[in-house]
Amino acid sequence: MRYISTRGRAPALGFEETMLTGLARDGGLYVPEEVPQFSESEIAALAGQPYEEVALRVISPFVGDAFTKGELIRLIAAAYGEFAHAARAPVKQLGPKHFLLELFHGPTLAFKDFAMQLIGQLMQASLARSGKRITIVGATSGDTGSAAIEAFKGLANVDVFILFPEGRVSEVQRRQMTTAGADNVHAIALEGDFDTCQGRLKDLFNDHAFRDEVGLAGVNSINWARVLAQVVYYFTSATTLGAPHRAVDFTVPTGNFGDIFAGHIARRMGLPVGKLVIATNQNDILHRTLATGEQRREGVVPSHSPSMDIQVSSNFERVLFEAYDGDGTAVTAAMEGLANEGGYALGQGAWGFLKERFASGRASEDETLQAIFRAQLLTGEVLCPHSAVAYHVAEDHLGRNPMITLATAHPAKFPDAVEKAIGLRPPLPSQMADLYDRPETVTPMADDLGTLKAFIRERRRS
Ligand SMILES: *Cc1c(COP(=O)(O)O)cnc(C)c1O
Repeated sequence: MRYISTRGRAPALGFEETMLTGLARDGGLYVPEEVPQFSESEIAALAGQPYEEVALRVISPFVGDAFTKGELIRLIAAAYGEFAHAARAPVKQLGPKHFLLELFHGPTLAFKDFAMQLIGQLMQASLARSGKRITIVGATSGDTGSAAIEAFKGLANVDVFILFPEGRVSEVQRRQMTTAGADNVHAIALEGDFDTCQGRLKDLFNDHAFRDEVGLAGVNSINWARVLAQVVYYFTSATTLGAPHRAVDFTVPTGNFGDIFAGHIARRMGLPVGKLVIATNQNDILHRTLATGEQRREGVVPSHSPSMDIQVSSNFERVLFEAYDGDGTAVTAAMEGLANEGGYALGQGAWGFLKERFASGRASEDETLQAIFRAQLLTGEVLCPHSAVAYHVAEDHLGRNPMITLATAHPAKFPDAVEKAIGLRPPLPSQMADLYDRPETVTPMADDLGTLKAFIRERRRS
């Protein structure tokens, strides 16, 4: 299996290099040259299998010969062994046709553990084999950073630097990043918002000399291996509810477009997915893009669902590449428009492509809190604000098929919003009960690329 860049000017890579590289050298994102197809009987055979077995079957064709089957079995088992639920990604019923896919039973209580735990195992195995070292730098709106730190802390061949926007993550998120207590882990509180963090990360990757000097590797949601790991739970949940014999719909709370792009890949592999609904909070660039045919960025306004407070939705580039029929030049022009002129208009064909495949909706701040209240009243489920955004949007899209709404974080990660909605602070699960007592280590930093580079050079263990 080979991977090509969405900008069309970087060399094609195998799975392992794609995973270790993250962003392509032409500034693009790697996508598989071809998407493997699963037959109806292959999909039917996934029903009722353990999560790890489904992961093995879904991931294998994308990995090619980068890992043996035996290695993959071992690494997948290690990735998900610590999850606090035997099903890993259990499905709960909310209404006659509405279901909740709980993705928050991993070590940091958000869906990003599904990808990060696996990529940690895969990278460690790959580096151990080659004897190489890497420096992972990640930008986070909260949940990626803690998931990465949890997955990579203490690993011999990896140093980890996580940039988060100062004051814009919840206290639980911050503490999960600042209390790892491992000397290969560095949490940096950057002045600015998530897009600032993501911008500095891109600057580091675009500095090829620095990139080579420190062995820079990315684990942000642009990393193909992360998207791949997320494809798995679309298969487990859909087959639980009757796929391939009946189609299912999904509503996905969306920021960087990684999670929903995984659903799009699952559909391209043959999973019968009807609607794939993008749910955004008040930072609704993706909803506006679908509605108007134009992607135009505005300022980020902090919301109750901070992990979706994004205006530059990195993974959208992957679907844009498909919408433009693999034309890297057109993608490059669009991305330059977004960077330099604040936006770009989709061609008619590309807009039609997207509208055919995705629906969308948004939830205001009030609607988010009301959704937490309503879900608790009607079903007893306490939703995190991100999941509540999706719940609100899903209610508008209920139709013939079962609707699966993705619950992306545990409510205890966002106790302030939940308390505002229902007057109760959800308790942290027992494995994390001492979080508020652990000592914090964090480096505050101005938004300055030179300072950031100097810090990474000084702190990495070479
Ligand atoms: C990251 C995150 C999202 C958004 O996921 P994307 O893949 O960036 O679209 C939604 N909810 C939670 C809790 C998250 O951590």
